[in-house]
Amino acid sequence: MLSFNVSRNVFLAGTAIALALVVAAFLIDGYAVLLFLSGLVVFTASFFASQVIYSLHRLKEIETEGRRRMVRCSHCEAPLYPEETKCPYCGTRRPETPQD
Ligand SMILES: [Zn+2]
Repeated sequence: MLSFNVSRNVFLAGTAIALALVVAAFLIDGYAVLLFLSGLVVFTASFFASQVIYSLHRLKEIETEGRRRMVRCSHCEAPLYPEETKCPYCGTRRPETPQD
């Protein structure tokens, strides 16, 4: 997750803000519990946000990778994955795959 810059930055920024809030909780009387809790909330939120951002990034990567591998149907030119034995658009069997 931390290998992707954007999600790492979101996580680090969240952690920094959370730490600041927790430190403030110890320094400022009166709002200690509130500040400490908001620190925890910010930390958790940034963790999940960075997870979501990373997942979206990976999904896009996987999609791009899949598209790069795609071949065209010999009959209707529809994009197909190489392992597909039959065109989902026109039903043409792919000549490269052995018929069973
Ligand atoms: Zn086709």
